[in-house]
Amino acid sequence: MTELHGENPSQAPDPATTSGSELTEVTSENEPADLEPRIIDLIDGEVGPGAPVLICVGGLHGNEPGGVHALERVTRRLRNQDREIQLGGTLLALRGNRAALAHKLRFLDVDLNRAWAVEDLERVRLQSAAADGPTDAEVRDLLLHIEKPLNQGRPVFLLDLHSTSGGGPPFSVVLGGKPSEKLASRIGVPCVHGLNESIQGTLTSWFAAYKGPSIVVEGGESRTEETIRHLEAAVWSSLAVAGLLPENHQRVVEARQFLAHSTDDKPSHVRVCHREKIKGMQFHMASPGGRRFKGFDFVKKDSHLAHKKNGPVLATQDGFLIMPLYQHKGSEGFFLAEPCADPALE
Ligand SMILES: [Zn+2]
Repeated sequence: MTELHGENPSQAPDPATTSGSELTEVTSENEPADLEPRIIDLIDGEVGPGAPVLICVGGLHGNEPGGVHALERVTRRLRNQDREIQLGGTLLALRGNRAALAHKLRFLDVDLNRAWAVEDLERVRLQSAAADGPTDAEVRDLLLHIEKPLNQGRPVFLLDLHSTSGGGPPFSVVLGGKPSEKLASRIGVPCVHGLNESIQGTLTSWFAAYKGPSIVVEGGESRTEETIRHLEAAVWSSLAVAGLLPENHQRVVEARQFLAHSTDDKPSHVRVCHREKIKGMQFHMASPGGRRFKGFDFVKKDSHLAHKKNGPVLATQDGFLIMPLYQHKGSEGFFLAEPCADPALE
């Protein structure tokens, strides 16, 4: 999610910033499928005033359908194999950018994960639905679904499921304050802190500021089975963190074992220390030895990481590479991060 993407996804991709295999994903010639319903599923267990609500959103970026598939799997399991389980609250699983999912595009007019600044929400609330652009329409409808449980006064958590072009292990991105940091540190994936300055107007930053704990989970490389499994495990783990399942529930335990296995040599918490801005510049990541960089690759200072028009881009320090950009257009080519203490404990 947190890759910052271009304003014009329907334009032909820039060959300087695009690898060949991704061209098919970002052209607008893909035949759009029918719109799927907003609600993937709504499963009520306890519904009393103190019973928590976990809202999960998949596919806020239409070229990242893994979150939707993960939510379909979890809710199907809860309804079929696990139907004897009574959740300790409500699970609401939502599709994000339905129109973009149907087109297999990241977004149609503007990035739905940059549309949640307070002034943008106010504009959508004040304008008539007839004036909505494609993203406005998605925001308007998502707000309806997200705010409904909030109006019941119950504790609400929000998990926003994404994937990246560069791939790598699953991790969370924490754009909110202490309650969100606490949520992130209990899921069982490395937490990336300090992206707040780079990324504004996201669903989770709005939610965390005004509604409740909220994080992004990045599952790995888009359109891979492994990524769907990572995101599915993150949802099971979050069901326990939010209080809907016991911590010792078999699916929660198995999910955390799987996440631990996928992330075992990575630090639990990192803080971004370098942001490689590329807006408007020719840029492409290097592929050392023919291998693409992945998220959380450790790189030494002065390693050759990417190319810009005016020459090679070297690592400014030792660190973990976060979200190397291997898809077209973007405002950041990558971030570097260094291990840090768990801010939730500070
Ligand atoms: Zn995304």
